[in-house]
Amino acid sequence: MLLSSRVAEVKGVGPALAERFEALHIRTVKDLIYFFPRKYDDFSQVTKIDDLVPGKVTIKGTVESVVGRYIKRRLHITEAIIADETSKVRAVWFNQPYRATQLAKGDEYYFSGAYDFQRNRYVLSNPATEKADSFGVSTARIVPIYRESKGLKSQQLRKVMKELLPLMDALPETLPPVLVKKFRLASVNETLKNLHFPQNTEELERAKRRTAFEELIWLITASLINKNDQAGLTGWRIDFKKPIADAFVKTLPFKMTGAQKKAAWEIFQDMESGSPMNRLVQGDVGSGKTVVGAMAAYLAAEQGYQTAFMAPTEILATQHATSIANLLEPLGVRVGLLVGSTKTAQKSQLKKKASKGDLDIIVGTHALIQGDTEFNKLGLVIIDEQHRFGVRQRSELLTKSKHMPHLLSMTATPIPRSLQLTVYGDLEVSIIDEMPKGRQPIETEVVKPAARHTVYEKIEAQIRQGRQAYVVCPLITDGINAELKSVQTEYERLNKSIFKHRQVGLLHGQMKADEKEHVMRQFKSGKLDILISTTVIEVGVDVPNATVMLIEGADRFGLAQLHQLRGRVGRGSEQSYCYLIPSGDNVSQRLRELEKSNDGFYLAEVDLKLRGPGEVYGRAQSGKLDMSFVNLADTRLIKQVRLAAAWLIQSKLSLVKYKELADKVNHYRRLTSLN
Ligand code: ADP
Ligand code: MG
Repeated sequence: MLLSSRVAEVKGVGPALAERFEALHIRTVKDLIYFFPRKYDDFSQVTKIDDLVPGKVTIKGTVESVVGRYIKRRLHITEAIIADETSKVRAVWFNQPYRATQLAKGDEYYFSGAYDFQRNRYVLSNPATEKADSFGVSTARIVPIYRESKGLKSQQLRKVMKELLPLMDALPETLPPVLVKKFRLASVNETLKNLHFPQNTEELERAKRRTAFEELIWLITASLINKNDQAGLTGWRIDFKKPIADAFVKTLPFKMTGAQKKAAWEIFQDMESGSPMNRLVQGDVGSGKTVVGAMAAYLAAEQGYQTAFMAPTEILATQHATSIANLLEPLGVRVGLLVGSTKTAQKSQLKKKASKGDLDIIVGTHALIQGDTEFNKLGLVIIDEQHRFGVRQRSELLTKSKHMPHLLSMTATPIPRSLQLTVYGDLEVSIIDEMPKGRQPIETEVVKPAARHTVYEKIEAQIRQGRQAYVVCPLITDGINAELKSVQTEYERLNKSIFKHRQVGLLHGQMKADEKEHVMRQFKSGKLDILISTTVIEVGVDVPNATVMLIEGADRFGLAQLHQLRGRVGRGSEQSYCYLIPSGDNVSQRLRELEKSNDGFYLAEVDLKLRGPGEVYGRAQSGKLDMSFVNLADTRLIKQVRLAAAWLIQSKLSLVKYKELADKVNHYRRLTSLN
């Protein structure tokens, strides 16, 4: 039998079973071998009958008698008396009539199952049984439990896996032996055998560690290769010039925080190095990332380089263009805004200017680099509210610039440290962990739907003091779920009744761009008191006078998203408030965590714990991440794998020789750099 053989060729796998495997995407013997148990039941301890206590037990005994009968029309019971040298015990099985013929009087078996109180006495109920002198898969061992599906039970899978043990034993090593030895890893053979049929807990742990090691080395090697590739490219050299930096700082209406200065300094050093920068600035909502980006763009502009500044939405791009222009135009920098709703004539004029070099900073959405915009000398690309540039984005950039431009991404959704060491290893990271002076933490409170009116009173109180409010709803129009608030109905309702004496605005993604912009401008200028909105205001929108936010259907949003939304308030020096109303009376842990903390870094770690790396990562990247065995908190293992990966890259031969390893690494290289 070969790894590539179809599952139907395995002994005991008939067409029906093969079909069920197919449904789980298990087609070859290899797929089957790599279908690992979901968990284990430890039945390895064999107990003397005399010593039995209720719970999961295993005994080894001889069958003294066994009889089966119907006690009701549909209830069959098999009873056996089992004896060992200490005592006797009764075993019962319900609706398993074959047990009576399976068990032979006088033969010795292992019985693993629950010992509990039933029908007035202690019995072994529904135990698995296997001949004492055979290789057992369901008794007297650590028993593997597989992910079961209709018509596919663990019991069956164990039998099939048992047939594959000889093959597991014969598989060639998938990692270079040097690594196996140096990091004291279990061999691939031991690993596979022990994952399915652990000899003992230690061996199981070793097998899990090796598997985690292997999952990590694919990922980390991939990200290190990506990083080396990037460093090998020639970039523009943009020098740090103190007078330029000083001029910038002088025009600011505030003093930069220490963390902002540090991030800026790290960026300048990258830009000066001659290889293209690939840096992510992480800073909580409101920490002032835009200024840092603007400063880098100014430094570039003063030396004749253009900057493309991209935001995820038109609203945000428009806002950035305004604040960057306010900041830099007095210094002689030429700023242009190029978005989908820009009028055609104006668009072509802007594009002409960009290609001639008559614009220094072009602000827009992602269409900026995907479209036909040409640049004269593109030195820096800034991408807001994204974790990293994808490979496609990067190659597109190369068609727009002689050299790879410096790349700067900025996000308020921090990457948990563990993911940074693994999945995002190709990125340099700057952290802005200090808020501008005078900011007060946002007071957050979960409010039950029945108490909604109390929130309206608080909103009214804020408006009376001259402040503004957001009301965020999960849907645009009323849907099937009556519990969920839609912006449309909320807008009608609030505008006509509770807040009819106030100016209420409506904003959602299906509105035309100029309508959206109009509403945003009205809200910004204070003409609107309340903005009823969907999550289009999620990222970046900056209206410091807004001090209160109500989030309807709060349980429908993710932790990171709620934190982002909440970040729309608390941007000025006034105390701000955020009220979370779930759609039902249940309050999830997510909401409780938000109530407790304003710290995006802490919340990102909580999110990782609550949802797991696959989910957290999957939201940011498309594609599956195989990390079923990796415990991202195991920094020691991650460290070891980083060493191993560095070695692997140096000894290029290994990657050629171990084709499977190379394939996995290549797969992850594509996966981890795609957005
Ligand atoms: P984010 O990091 O969420 O993108 P912004 O760049 O939008 O934050 O900045 C939020 C607000 O804080 C803006 O109004 C900005 O002008 C202001 N700001 C930035 N840096 C400082 C600072 N050092 N001191 C005071 N206000 C600042
Ligand atoms: Mg921002």
